Amino acid sequence: MSATPLVSQVNSVKSAIIPPLLGASVSELSAWVEEQGQPAYRGKQLHDWIYHQGVRSLADISVFPKQWRGELAEIPIGRSTIHHRAVAPDGTIKYLLRLADGQIIETVGIPTAKRLTVCVSTQVGCPMACDFCATGKGGYIRNLGTHEIVDQVLTVQEDFQQRVSHVVFMGMGEPLLNTDNVLASLKCLNQDVGIGQRSLTVSTVGIRDRIRQFAHNNLQVTLAVSLHAPNQALREKLIPSARPYPLEDLLDECREYVEITRRRISFEYILLAGFNDLPEHALQLAKCLRGFQSHVNLIPYNPIQEVDYKRPKGDRIQAFVNVLKQQKVAVSVRYSRGLEADAACGQLRASK
Ligand code: SAH
Repeated sequence: MSATPLVSQVNSVKSAIIPPLLGASVSELSAWVEEQGQPAYRGKQLHDWIYHQGVRSLADISVFPKQWRGELAEIPIGRSTIHHRAVAPDGTIKYLLRLADGQIIETVGIPTAKRLTVCVSTQVGCPMACDFCATGKGGYIRNLGTHEIVDQVLTVQEDFQQRVSHVVFMGMGEPLLNTDNVLASLKCLNQDVGIGQRSLTVSTVGIRDRIRQFAHNNLQVTLAVSLHAPNQALREKLIPSARPYPLEDLLDECREYVEITRRRISFEYILLAGFNDLPEHALQLAKCLRGFQSHVNLIPYNPIQEVDYKRPKGDRIQAFVNVLKQQKVAVSVRYSRGLEADAACGQLRASK
């Protein structure tokens, strides 16, 4: 794996972008308009209309010459359409978005006092088949393109009429099975949409070698790793991919990630009553993470129809937190938002 940073890799490809245009940088768009016989500054205009004015057809770019607009009309930008929209009482909005080929994905917009966070999908469906997750129950269809990932952020931004401050790659799919498009969309969200790298989080269940490869991109984004169990036996029961890629190997690779990036990892741990929420599990978890630059995010289970796990009661959650704190592990509890709209972690299944 080369250690060439992402930015220089992408910038070295100057022109030759193939539509859909969403995902392209100013320099790529400028080279592209020049190929169409137009002055380079039109690339900057195109960039502004695509990323900041939310144009949906190139024919609508009023600053372009009329004849050229006619020629551009059929060239796709790469935007989706909102197929369905559900607002939860807490203000979280779940979107079902229809892609150009008719596939439907889910995106969630999560407003809080100072933030607007978007939870983006990276695949249509997911092949990982984790036992507690609704997305995996529906199987896997395909990876999303860069434009389809960036589009989700623009769609939420336009619908809320508010700038998106944070993006979490925690929707449908496994981001590290779609690394090229995830990296390209991180670059685009940072440089073209204007979201700080530190406000971008990629969550993975762990794919062998991919965390190390991800580390070599010189990014300041946050990596979240879905651990969910403090030992191999329990983890295997929840996550089929844990069998060929055991916990020990995953943690070794996470250590390499911290060494390479000097950034701490956020570990996600879903709390399932009576399964992985006992104080002894918390102790084991603390042991796994000893010496690690890390932070644990506990996610009380959000119910899905297919399985009968239970969310632990508040005092059990608190007891788990307390053990971790005693062990000097940085910990927070994520009470997922959007539960009533089936928009919470693990409930995304591309249906109403
Ligand atoms: N495939 C990636 C991205 C999905 S992120 C990953 O596994 O990290 C979605 C987060 O929600 C993951 O941490 C996932 O394990 C968690 N999750 C899945 N189903 C859940 C459920 N029913 N309740 C709470 N969290 C869940």
